[in-house]
Amino acid sequence: MTTFESLGLSPEILKAIEDLGFESPSEVQEQTIPILLEEPTDMVALAQTGTGKTAAFGFPLIQNIDLNSKKTQGLILSPTRELCMQITNELKQYAKYYQNLNTVAVYGGASITDQARQIKRGAQIIVATPGRMKDMIQRNIIDISNINICILDEADEMLNMGFFEDIKEILSHSSDQKNTWLFSATMPKEVSMIAKKFMKSPKEITVGQKNISTKSVSHEYFIVGGRDRYSAVKRVVDANPDIYAVIFCRTKRDTQKVAEKLIEDGYSASALHGDLSQAQRDMVMNSFRKKQIQMLVATDVAARGIDVDDITHVINYQLPDEIETYTHRSGRTGRAGKEGKSLVIVTKSEVRKIRQVEKIIGQKFTQEELPSGDEICKRQLFHLADEIKNTTINSEIDSFIPDLEAQFEDLSKEEIIKKFFSVEFTRFHNYYKNAPKITQHSADDSYSSGKDYGDETRFFINIGEKDGFNWMSLKDFLKEQLNLDRDGVAKVDVKNTFSFFNVPTDDVEKVQSTFDTFKLKGRHVNVEITKDQKSGSGGRKGGGGGRDRGDRKPRKRFDKNSSSDFKGKKSGGSSVKSSFERRRKKS
Ligand code: ADP
Ligand code: MG
Repeated sequence: MTTFESLGLSPEILKAIEDLGFESPSEVQEQTIPILLEEPTDMVALAQTGTGKTAAFGFPLIQNIDLNSKKTQGLILSPTRELCMQITNELKQYAKYYQNLNTVAVYGGASITDQARQIKRGAQIIVATPGRMKDMIQRNIIDISNINICILDEADEMLNMGFFEDIKEILSHSSDQKNTWLFSATMPKEVSMIAKKFMKSPKEITVGQKNISTKSVSHEYFIVGGRDRYSAVKRVVDANPDIYAVIFCRTKRDTQKVAEKLIEDGYSASALHGDLSQAQRDMVMNSFRKKQIQMLVATDVAARGIDVDDITHVINYQLPDEIETYTHRSGRTGRAGKEGKSLVIVTKSEVRKIRQVEKIIGQKFTQEELPSGDEICKRQLFHLADEIKNTTINSEIDSFIPDLEAQFEDLSKEEIIKKFFSVEFTRFHNYYKNAPKITQHSADDSYSSGKDYGDETRFFINIGEKDGFNWMSLKDFLKEQLNLDRDGVAKVDVKNTFSFFNVPTDDVEKVQSTFDTFKLKGRHVNVEITKDQKSGSGGRKGGGGGRDRGDRKPRKRFDKNSSSDFKGKKSGGSSVKSSFERRRKKS
């Protein structure tokens, strides 16, 4: 058996190891330490989580530090704040018999002044998350021009989280003479790219099987009408009673909206976006980590750095604006050797984007049908049956048993089972028995008539040239009133007394509510969804019809889904919640 003594470690470190109670080196330590101690070299080391990688780079790093200098000599980049603190703690224990060695942790969400002060006192080793590190370099608080060693820990995760550009920027402030040690659990394409880009003929160490890389994430998409996104999410959740998910939305507004709807419908959910304070975000993240929250609805920016194991599903409420971001999203699941699913809700016109994503991730998507009401009822039922079967009998119940038995005396076992399960089953069944099948043809897509207006809705508005508008000024006026961005209003067509314009279908409600009570020069402004969704002029076929007709008709179609949704959700939802809570109590 190899001993720590045989690896070439200093007496100080050996003493610390004894205090820590490590008896012998782990495999990755045994393989890397002698090489890293012997001569300056770059290295790529791959080993699963929990195999002792921190010590594998930590011991040699500490032994490499010149204690007579207070300059920063070693930098460790790691993906999350938690890991950052963990590594710092470990290093402090490893180095406890070195009097003059200072290790400082640098991460976001904590006082930058405090961290700056610690660094000023002299930090030979800095352990940092890329975001904060970049920030501090730019503010000239940290100088890494003299580092000899840079360690990229959990490189795969850092890339997953979108830190590539930050890392590149940070490393550009260091010297070419330094050595880079990359530690990672897996070796996806991106990591080998980093190795090529930032390292000079690195020595390669692999412990365990190589390339368990493609994390076990399967990618699926569902095609729905733009207004059915929420119902689709709801079905996915109902069909997966044990779901533990991150739902990604493109905007803060959607994030808040979806979270609120879920909560209103009795699910355990919370929003995470940039309008929350750091303290609020910490609170949400803590609850999610403890599984007190089942679904986290987040924007990409806010979710950067989420490091929670066990996430079963990533749900893309919409695809991200930047296709590349998809990798960061889907990487939130399938961690630590577990399987995960990344689901994307798309409208018909967005399917081509799926093909682009496939190219980027090098994996194929499968198109799936949303589970039917029957399927959901069945899954809920058997989920409950499983739970009942696995429940440990509480002996406190014994004293009630005779009375309970008396009450059910007249019923057969079959009848009792039927009645018992009907209690739960009926809730879901009632909701889903009348629920419309969600398909790609429902809602807005049904009138896209082959043209590419899939995700846009065309409106009629009763103002035009007579009110002093041309297409440009009307566009500006609408953008301002609706608080939409540059592309938010399109295909503006101004006639004498009325006009037409398109908005993304997701914003239909906004248009309706904005103009509900709006007056221009004392005149009521009337908007209607046009029947004919072609962008050309004269869209308002079937003409006439006052505000009532035009305004309500589409809404009714919308309401049909959402009001039945609402009813069912209340009852169905509470059951979902309770089953999750049952699960929590068990664990
Ligand atoms: P990784 O970074 O590979 O996921 P860590 O470095 O976090 O793993 O180590 C996992 C745990 O194993 C830590 O608690 C660490 O203290 C412990 N550990 C590391 N090396 C040894 C060893 N040689 N013997 C016993 N425990 C060890
Ligand atoms: Mg580690």
